[in-house]
Amino acid sequence: MKKFCILFLMLLLVLPANAFIVDETKNGEINSLVNKIGFSILNANKIPYRITFSVKQNSKYLIASSSPRNRKIVIYKNLLPQIDDEDELAAIIAHEISHGVDSNEGIFKGFFSFYEYLAAPKKYEIKADKRAVDYLVNAGYNPVAIIVVYSKLLPQPRYDWFMFHPLPSKRMMYIYEYIFNKYPAFLVNNKYKTNLYYQNFLLTSQQNRKKLQNKIQSDSQKILRYE
Ligand SMILES: [Zn+2]
Repeated sequence: MKKFCILFLMLLLVLPANAFIVDETKNGEINSLVNKIGFSILNANKIPYRITFSVKQNSKYLIASSSPRNRKIVIYKNLLPQIDDEDELAAIIAHEISHGVDSNEGIFKGFFSFYEYLAAPKKYEIKADKRAVDYLVNAGYNPVAIIVVYSKLLPQPRYDWFMFHPLPSKRMMYIYEYIFNKYPAFLVNNKYKTNLYYQNFLLTSQQNRKKLQNKIQSDSQKILRYE
């Protein structure tokens, strides 16, 4: 059971723990905002599953989680001061909604989906990131916010060999490539062009973006292995 709990925790968006658009002392405001964003994404994307949202006290290890058992998405308060706009918060929520959708699909209403995740967690994390891009665009949010918020919050281990999540540098590049191919207007008219965290992504992803540039120039369809 203890092992299971540890594995379960690994499923969640693990992040380390600055002012946001809502007053953190007003729990009602935070809950309303999280619900507004969450239900907007669900409705705009015509997601036919019941998924609910709540805001909880700080977590030592998490900023957000999606329970595969009751499809409840939790935002932990330590996330909020680190979020600078509503798109960023929507980005985190959209990623967790994607996990929530997976946990509803498959036989026995997705009963085994968690085990499928455990078998290939990195694949499902990349899937959740890309699907979050679609969810955000359909709900009227800016998908580049995912790159911004990951650039700001996700620490970069040396390797991801034994980790559930892919290296954040890889995740941001797969998101960037996905936006580049499917929603290029967000990169052409990029509201985050001068954003510190986005600029840092551009600085630290030069080699990866060179790979992408070569792929585009050679008209290749291969899946790139980013660093
Ligand atoms: Zn995830």
